[in-house]
Amino acid sequence: METQLLPASPENIALAAALLQRGEVVGLPTETVYGLAADALNPQAVRKIFAAKGRPQDNPLIVHICDLSMLKTLTCEPPKLAYQLAEAFWPGPMTMVLPKADCLPDEVTASLPTVGIRFPAHPAAQAVIRESGLPLAAPSANLSGSPSPTKASHVYNDLQGKIPLILDGGECSVGLESTVVAVREGAIRLLRPGGITVEQLSAFAPVEIDNGVLHQMDPTAKVASPGMKYKHYSPKADVVIVDAGFPDFVSFVNSRRADGVYAMAFDGEETMLKVPTLSFGAAGDLSSQAKVLFDSLRRCDELGAKTVYVRSPQKNGIGLAVYNRLLRAAGFTVVDKDGNPI
Ligand code: AMP
Ligand code: MG
Repeated sequence: METQLLPASPENIALAAALLQRGEVVGLPTETVYGLAADALNPQAVRKIFAAKGRPQDNPLIVHICDLSMLKTLTCEPPKLAYQLAEAFWPGPMTMVLPKADCLPDEVTASLPTVGIRFPAHPAAQAVIRESGLPLAAPSANLSGSPSPTKASHVYNDLQGKIPLILDGGECSVGLESTVVAVREGAIRLLRPGGITVEQLSAFAPVEIDNGVLHQMDPTAKVASPGMKYKHYSPKADVVIVDAGFPDFVSFVNSRRADGVYAMAFDGEETMLKVPTLSFGAAGDLSSQAKVLFDSLRRCDELGAKTVYVRSPQKNGIGLAVYNRLLRAAGFTVVDKDGNPI
């Protein structure tokens, strides 16, 4: 199959909508990462997503909507808190896991009794949902296991020949996947951190952080958010998080200088490092770290890195999401200034 990579213009949005109505899959920009979309109500179309990505069947998909009437159709008696969160954070990078309606096929929800729903903020994503008139099941548009795509070229590199169309809507403004929360009356459970932070959610109800956010899950275990148990977001190189202050990070990296050894450090810090160094955003600017993380991980592979030593980010605000993705990219390898596992 030939893959067309086209700008997200009105004509190409109409083309995407027509392909989706015919049961095809399409790569789309959103503000979080690029998504690989299909009609959420068409099981054959949804199976094409799993086939193109090589995604494990037990990992459910998020369904994307463009108004609250779609939320009513796809869920079963959402609590009032869900509407309060929708009012506060939609359109935007928050997915709510709610009891599902019968119209949703098992292919979307991996046979769970719940469904993850999101109203994206990106105008091209909204336009495709509106023009197609369909709720769109869409995971990240990468090969399963590799870093999520934050540019149309990332989608092309992973999925060319496997899907008919990718709409190019520029670089994703958030750069990490959505915050996933399970919502009941009076209680929020954080399943995956993202652009909407724990601090923001806590204004509405107490937030319980699921164990899978910061701890490695047994791949055979039954977990609340199946996506969190897989090796994820990871380049071919070995990624190691170095939990140390800057002077110790410099000594750590410079003493391990060798062929294939790279670093990811905050902007400006590369002048002190004696190995090739990729950007990990600006120190203290957590949003800039979120935005470049996946692109820098992909560039490590393009450059042939074998080992990448990464600065440990702050763990508050969107920094929790950055750290969560980095932990998975590193297979949970975190070391101190002497190289001892933490
Ligand atoms: P992706 O679409 O690749 O960003 O992955 C979607 C994430 O949302 C995965 O981590 C899923 O496990 C999670 N998710 C989607 N639907 C549900 C659900 N019904 N219950 C729990 N987690 C879900
Ligand atoms: Mg994904």
